[in-house]
Amino acid sequence: MKKITLIGAGLSGSFLAALLAKRGFDVTVYERRPDRRKEEVEAGRSINLAVSARGIHALKLAGLYEDIMAIATPMYGRMNHPLGGDSVGTKYSIHPENCLYSVSRGALNEMLMNVAEAAGAKILFKQECKDIDLAANEVRFADMNNGGEIYKVSVNKVVACDGANSAVRRAMTRNTDFTHTEKRFRVDYKELSIPSKDGMIQMERNWLHIWGREGGAFMMIALPNIDNTFTCTLFMPVEGEKSLSNLDTSEKVSAFFAQYFPDAVPLMPTLVEDSFKNPTSSLNIVFCYPWIVEDKMALIGDACHAIVPFYGQGVNASFEDCIELDECIGQHYPDWGKVFEVYQTNRKANADAISQMAQENFDDMAKSGFPEFQLRKYLEHEMEIRFAFYKSQYETVSFSLEPYTEAKARGIRNQQILTEIIEDLSVVRELGLENALAAHSIADLAAQANWDNAEQVAKRYYGV
Ligand SMILES: Cc1cc2nc3c(=O)[nH]c(=O)nc-3n(C[C@H](O)[C@H](O)[C@H](O)COP(=O)(O)OP(=O)(O)OC[C@H]3O[C@@H](n4cnc5c(N)ncnc54)[C@H](O)[C@@H]3O)c2cc1C
Repeated sequence: MKKITLIGAGLSGSFLAALLAKRGFDVTVYERRPDRRKEEVEAGRSINLAVSARGIHALKLAGLYEDIMAIATPMYGRMNHPLGGDSVGTKYSIHPENCLYSVSRGALNEMLMNVAEAAGAKILFKQECKDIDLAANEVRFADMNNGGEIYKVSVNKVVACDGANSAVRRAMTRNTDFTHTEKRFRVDYKELSIPSKDGMIQMERNWLHIWGREGGAFMMIALPNIDNTFTCTLFMPVEGEKSLSNLDTSEKVSAFFAQYFPDAVPLMPTLVEDSFKNPTSSLNIVFCYPWIVEDKMALIGDACHAIVPFYGQGVNASFEDCIELDECIGQHYPDWGKVFEVYQTNRKANADAISQMAQENFDDMAKSGFPEFQLRKYLEHEMEIRFAFYKSQYETVSFSLEPYTEAKARGIRNQQILTEIIEDLSVVRELGLENALAAHSIADLAAQANWDNAEQVAKRYYGV
């Protein structure tokens, strides 16, 4: 039988194992952690994820659509919580059915493991990859069931799905043609929570809640869970007075939250306890190339392109990698050199594009309560309603399967178009943007737009 070895049974590894086992491969997955379906696994990473169209498409392929819908909470937009003001919701899309789904990461991983095993894949738990020697076709593992005893496994084809700190990627740095950068993003994060109160949910359920602060320097977000709780994530600069490391006493935590998130404090009874119990984590961005070694091995998912979470696309992009690799096998097997080469060619530029858009989206999220951002969003939604050819970057990334490279190109074009439309508003020409925003509501400003001109501007950029 056609053997293939996967390293890591996280979200990509389990999904890919299911796809390959369905294709008739003899799939063995080596996973460092215990089986989360039987034992408690280490906590500390995000416990819920936003899954969008790409992820849902993948889960349909895995036959998991109904199961996921049973545990997913739809989020139709961002609910901004300005300091000292009323919260304001902004929909993600002009199409009312479009939403992100907040899903438990653990539950999703368990479902994917079940599907992989049902398709015939074997998952071996507590087996940590230590090193890989492709010249000798060998992987070294530590058996954590057996005091970490080291053993070697002969391999033929390997796919490394071992996440952002991939041991396989580190082994590849020995190859002279391998370029590799890991960059720490400018904010760290900590998970906090908003529990239910007497069993009832404490904020509006179907939104991604955002508290952007100090010109977008830091923010807290909250995603709903099906048990009426919210998982909050506080993102703060790595260093400085307003950093997580500086919130090092109960008094500082309480004072900081009272100052910046006063509406959230009454909803967070375990705030101080959670702040000290939960780890501070950093966000690493990984770029590397090549993702493959000859016809022997490929990296997939976070192992080759860990990105920041601000577009909610890490899993979505990783699932797309898996589908691409599976399709390449469908088209080019048994020519594994070609399988891996085409997979890499088709995915690398897309991974780079979403990585950049995800970094930029930190500012978008943190500033989403700000008037200029809201004016741009308002005008953009108007453009989408009026002109069928116009589509926002967000719509393309989150609610379509169009390549990320296309979404990125749209984003650049659209911002130029919106700038021209805003500069064309007579009140902006008269008062300047800042004063115009101070003196008029967003809806009033947008009502002054000249849509004939706007259409011409957009057509010029879109070449239609
Ligand atoms: C705070 C935060 C929030 C996020 N939110 C979102 C979101 O809303 N939407 C979204 O799409 N994405 C989100 N992501 C990104 C998402 O979590 C990742 O993109 C996704 O988990 C990648 O899947 P993966 O399988 O490649 O890696 P992982 O999920 O990390 O899985 C890797 C697996 O490999 C195993 N492993 C690691 N090393 C070894 C080894 N040496 N030997 C054997 N096994 C090993 C691990 O135990 C794990 O099971 C978020 C990430 C973070 C940090």
